[in-house]
Amino acid sequence: MRPDLFEAPDYYNLDELLSEEHKLVRDAARQWVKRDITPIIEEFAQKAEFPKQIIGGLAEIGAFGPYIPVEYGGAGLDQISYGLIMQEIERGDSGVRSTASVQSSLVMYPIFAYGTEEQRKKYLPKLASGEYMGCFGLTEPDHGSNPSGMVTNFKDKGDHFLLNGAKLWISNSPFADIAVVWAKNEEGRIHGLIVERGMEGFSTPETHNKWSLRASATGELIFDNVRVPKENLLPGKNGLGAPLGCLDSARYGIAWGAIGAAMDCYDTALRYAKERIQFGKPIAATQLQQKKLAEMITEITKAQLLAFRLGQLKNEGRATTAQISMAKRNNVEMAIKIAREARQVLGGMGITGEYSIMRHMMNLESVITYEGTHDIHLLITGADITGHNAFK
Ligand SMILES: Cc1cc2nc3c(=O)[nH]c(=O)nc-3n(C[C@H](O)[C@H](O)[C@H](O)COP(=O)(O)OP(=O)(O)OC[C@H]3O[C@@H](n4cnc5c(N)ncnc54)[C@H](O)[C@@H]3O)c2cc1C
Repeated sequence: MRPDLFEAPDYYNLDELLSEEHKLVRDAARQWVKRDITPIIEEFAQKAEFPKQIIGGLAEIGAFGPYIPVEYGGAGLDQISYGLIMQEIERGDSGVRSTASVQSSLVMYPIFAYGTEEQRKKYLPKLASGEYMGCFGLTEPDHGSNPSGMVTNFKDKGDHFLLNGAKLWISNSPFADIAVVWAKNEEGRIHGLIVERGMEGFSTPETHNKWSLRASATGELIFDNVRVPKENLLPGKNGLGAPLGCLDSARYGIAWGAIGAAMDCYDTALRYAKERIQFGKPIAATQLQQKKLAEMITEITKAQLLAFRLGQLKNEGRATTAQISMAKRNNVEMAIKIAREARQVLGGMGITGEYSIMRHMMNLESVITYEGTHDIHLLITGADITGHNAFK
């Protein structure tokens, strides 16, 4: 891959709205991505392997539990810093950001918000340092957009729970030390359980042949009469609202992350267009390429404003699920469209691994589907504004 010359676009001077801490956190993540992600990511994506050597670096930049309090090993940052870290990581690769999102919002957050003090002390510091990696099991083979139909279940056996079922499409599962698993009890109520690697009957086969998020490991979770200690139940919240609360936090991070992927595609296309000479002049001097680039920076700027305002609302505890849905949906679509346009600006070079654009484009095909599909987020907005839920 080429040297990383990335310069972040900031057309509306949004930096002026950031605190010194925001900028420090953002810049540290940006430098780490340039130093530790850019030089290796293309190779790992090509061979479809998660680069485990980056786990320590992700922990150091605060990507594991950015907003989890320091007493539990987290970085104790606000929601805008969390968003900026996700933006910078996804500027490098959506698969790496997925690993960080899952660890923070889908594993650490439920343990922090719904767990006991013993569970917090036992797991959170190790997850924050990367000593433990976690995954989140909600989706099942027959229940994706409709997780309430899940069949994974557990029965009370007196001194333990007996867990049976299967989860599909689980990020980090092939190497995770623990899994936060959502399953129904005998009354059909959804609860979260912490399942540890090594428990008898628990396996995590990897899913191969993905054309997207190739540098992120995805797999299944299979539970065949797994004896789960009773103290591994998350007691603080149950029902579908419990996993959906985690998804709110992860989707918020995605709304920022997608901006990173879009910025990288725009920056690459702008630089290429200025350098590439055809018909005796840079292609950047042609109206058609200017239209593409001008629309890209407009859409990035709108997405940045959306994310920033959502971050303010989240800091105040006022961001609604529907507002988060709108930002996730808008910003991922914005990024995927920019990736497609940017690829064309590079002509044939756009399809090679010399540049990051094609990898971003393929990655975003997962990002637009996971954590609630593009359609479902539209329906969440529709339900919110009309009062009629069209997807149930
Ligand atoms: C790479 C990757 C990583 C993932 N990581 C995780 C993870 O870590 N943990 C986890 O639990 N899950 C994970 N997922 C799963 C992801 O969240 C699901 O794929 C997603 O929720 C969609 O479910 P599905 O694939 O079963 O599609 P389906 O729900 O079958 O949807 C298929 C299509 O039908 C549409 N559709 C569904 N219902 C309606 C409706 N009512 N009205 C209109 N259209 C509808 C959808 O929008 C979609 O276009 C991951 C997925 C991928 C691809």
